[in-house]
Amino acid sequence: MISHMDRRSFLLGAAASLSAAGPEPIIDIHQHTNYSKRPDDVLVTHQRKMGITRTVLLPAGSRYGLAAEATGNDAVVTLARKYPKEYVFFANELPDIPETRPVIERYLKMGALGIGEQKFPVDCDSPAMRLIAGIAQRFRVPVLMHFQHGAYNYGIERFHKMLEKHPKVNFVGHAQTWWANISKGAEQSVMYPKGKVTPGGITDRLLADYPNMFGDLSAGSGFNALERDPEHAREFLTRHQNKLMFGSDCNDWEGEGEKCIGTKQLAQLRRLVTDKKALRKILHDNAARVFKIR
Ligand SMILES: [Zn+2]
Ligand SMILES: [Zn+2]
Repeated sequence: MISHMDRRSFLLGAAASLSAAGPEPIIDIHQHTNYSKRPDDVLVTHQRKMGITRTVLLPAGSRYGLAAEATGNDAVVTLARKYPKEYVFFANELPDIPETRPVIERYLKMGALGIGEQKFPVDCDSPAMRLIAGIAQRFRVPVLMHFQHGAYNYGIERFHKMLEKHPKVNFVGHAQTWWANISKGAEQSVMYPKGKVTPGGITDRLLADYPNMFGDLSAGSGFNALERDPEHAREFLTRHQNKLMFGSDCNDWEGEGEKCIGTKQLAQLRRLVTDKKALRKILHDNAARVFKIR
C-alpha cells in the first residue's frame, strides 16, 4: 500500500523529471574517493545534497594518496561505473616513474576524460611534466595541476613556457600558488594571501594570454582568491568567464552549511556572477566543453 506521503513524493518526482528545465546542471570538476577517509557512499550523498549533477573524480597516483588518503584509478573507475550518470573520472600516476605512461594510458583507454590531479614534487616544466603533456596531447585530454610553492609543481613563473610548448593541451590550474598569483607581485611563500588584489598576476596573465590555460576555482585557495577582494573578483569572473570552472574539493561529510566549502563557493559565485549566461559557463558549460562531458 502506498502511503499519502509516498504517493505525493512520487508524483512530485515524476513531475520534476518531466519538466523541460530539470535541475540546474552543475559540474563539480574536483572530488576524490576516500577523501580524508570519507566513505564513498557519503561522497555520493554529499554531492547530491550540494546539488551537483556531474562530478569529476580525480584519482591519486600509486603513492602519496594526494596527501589526503585519496584512492587511485581503480577506485574512481568503480564509483563512476556504479553511478554512470553522476560520475566521470580522470587517470593519474606519478609523472616521473617508469609506470607513468603505461598506467595513465591504460585508464585513458578505459574512458578517463583527463589526467590529474597532478600533485607531485616536480618542477611544473620538468621533463616529467612534459611527458604528461605528451600523453595528454596524444589522447586529446586536459591536465589538472596542483601548484603549491615548495611542495608541488614548482616554478609557476615559468609555466608559460609549457603552455607555449604544448599549445594543443589544455591545462587546468588549481591550489594555493595558482590562486595566490591572482595578484601581481604575490609573495610566493604565502599560501592564502589576504587584501586587495592587484590585477595582472601570473594567474591572470596565463588565463588572458593562453587559450589552453583554464582555472579550477575549488578549495579554500579558490574561495579565498575571490573573497579577499569581491570587487576585483566580479571583474575577474566576467573577464575569464570562458576559462573558469567550479570545483569543490571538499572533504566534509555534510554537503551543506559552514563546513562545506563547495556549498559556500556555489553561494559565492551566485552572489558575484550576476549574468546568468556567465554563471552557467562557470558552473557547467566550460567543464562540459573542455573535458568533453556529454
Ligand atoms: Zn584535490
Ligand atoms: Zn562539502
